[in-house]
Amino acid sequence: MTKLKDNDVFHKLKGLDPVLHDTVLSIYEELVQIRRDFRKHPELSFQEYRTASIVGDYLRRWGYDVEEEVGDTGVIGLLQGEEEGKVFGLRADMDALPMNDEIEQDYKSINEGAAHTCGHDMHMANLLGVAKVFSILGLKKGTLKLIFQPAEEIGVGAKRMIDQGALENPKMDMMAGLHVHPTVGVGKFSISASTYSGAAADFFQLDVHGKGGHAAYPHLTVDPVTITSQILVAFQQIVSRKVNPIDSAVISVGNINGGTKNNIIPEKVTVKGTVRTLDPEVRELVSSHMKKIASSIAESYGGSCDLQYNYGPPSIKIDEDAKQLFIESAIELFGKETIKYSQPSMGGEDFSSFSQEVPSFFFRLGTNSGKSTAYSNHNPKFNVDERALLYGVTILTHLTDKFLNKEAF
Ligand SMILES: [Zn+2]
Ligand SMILES: [Zn+2]
Repeated sequence: MTKLKDNDVFHKLKGLDPVLHDTVLSIYEELVQIRRDFRKHPELSFQEYRTASIVGDYLRRWGYDVEEEVGDTGVIGLLQGEEEGKVFGLRADMDALPMNDEIEQDYKSINEGAAHTCGHDMHMANLLGVAKVFSILGLKKGTLKLIFQPAEEIGVGAKRMIDQGALENPKMDMMAGLHVHPTVGVGKFSISASTYSGAAADFFQLDVHGKGGHAAYPHLTVDPVTITSQILVAFQQIVSRKVNPIDSAVISVGNINGGTKNNIIPEKVTVKGTVRTLDPEVRELVSSHMKKIASSIAESYGGSCDLQYNYGPPSIKIDEDAKQLFIESAIELFGKETIKYSQPSMGGEDFSSFSQEVPSFFFRLGTNSGKSTAYSNHNPKFNVDERALLYGVTILTHLTDKFLNKEAF
């Protein structure tokens, strides 16, 4: 996978800036080694100590000012251009998933119960690639701010970095982020056709309280099991009858717990689930109807309920100027057939916390070139075609350059 063949398509891409092209090719092998080292030594959310120190060391070596422990284990690298100008930010996440790695490669995880099966190793290698290209070619104008974020998988790392000052000193004028994806071919980029790219990912716990008793005499009890069943069916009516069909919402229950035995009506049933929405107004509509419906159904049967609704990261908001700049960059470098337009994902991605504060763009970087790279993110066999690094580094570098040198913004 690592060695580039002489006839690899990247060698002969038309329209590509030849200096950028050759520079990216010259560091490809090094980036592959960096990526494999991260894959071999994954670390879970907020435990990215080795990872963060490696990132910091590379950035310092390549002439960046480095700030560490932002958001506990996050790292920020800053490169000042020769001339003053705007600030462009790029973000990669660093954490691995709590699962075992099942790839058959010598760079398989050596840390039991931790695996880079979401591809955050690739995200870091991409950003370090951009860092290295600018350290070789220099940055003429403006400032590049590279943000290496912890704990994306638990949805709080971006927020933690923001709370600890990541948006200040200097403030960013525009930002971009990416995720590697097995549904997109290597050499291609998937971008959302909508204003949103990823969903707000909220979690809830519903406790339905009744009055327990013998299952043969239900009239003497308040049965939280039947009440819960009605509430869960009614929740789906929020999606089908309250949300505008043009908008999107998902209410899914992943866990129901209540009772001990066939003939005992329990005192309580607990339900755990998640809500996914794109539009903030739909998000509010869904959560307020869930509360109303759950309590009115419970009360109408003599029971009661508590709905604990926890707001997770918001949806990823796409800035139209940033999107246009990305599209222009991709077309200039690789031609328009390289862009694939897709529906926004209902998955959560906490880059969204940055996108609420800074005009941002988010895209999927294609990593699929056959069976071994077709496993979905979070599958124990997830792996990538590493040639995606060539495309990721090239586009992010070009995008940065274009933004920092464009007068219109
Ligand atoms: Zn993930
Ligand atoms: Zn991920």
